[in-house]
Amino acid sequence: MPSEPIARMAAQLARLPGVGPKSAQRMAYHILTTPLDQARELAEAIWDGRRSARLCSSCGDLTSTDPCPICANARRLRNQICVVRDPRDVPAIERMHSYEGLYHVLHGALSPMDGIGPGDIRIRELMERLASGVEEVILATNPDVEGEATASYIARLIKPMGIKVTRIARGLPVGSDLEYADEMTLSRAFEGRLEV
Ligand code: ZN
Repeated sequence: MPSEPIARMAAQLARLPGVGPKSAQRMAYHILTTPLDQARELAEAIWDGRRSARLCSSCGDLTSTDPCPICANARRLRNQICVVRDPRDVPAIERMHSYEGLYHVLHGALSPMDGIGPGDIRIRELMERLASGVEEVILATNPDVEGEATASYIARLIKPMGIKVTRIARGLPVGSDLEYADEMTLSRAFEGRLEV
């Protein structure tokens, strides 16, 4: 049986996504033999990051400042909003270095099976942002069942307002996660976006 500090640390690490009990234990042994200052840096990065994390009151992205750096950037185009499911989709799109508009993070996708309806994700907040000169809403939810359902629901809400609504092209493999798409595929999906 591993000693108490190892077991305690491993139990916590194993709660992280993609970390099984074995790798959690390996990481715990590694951390316990790492130089003190490095271990402290790791612990402080986790603690400070978590403590300062909040949602941008405009786009809903995870940030330590409100508004977030993207919303606060005067060079970003204010007339385009790209709608994504999760905060981790934002860096995936930013990696293309070609999108210059703003984002809106829904924090979920419509899924009647799981009881997730329009009131459970940030759709109302999106609608509230549209009054301020938005000309195009790009629906960049994942190409899976929930992502498609979410995209068509939002498109139906927005289209009557006379705002252009586009859906990123289907270059992404069906059922895949936006955050794992390579830049080339994602760029093509953006360039090939179609009005819905
Ligand atoms: Zn923001």
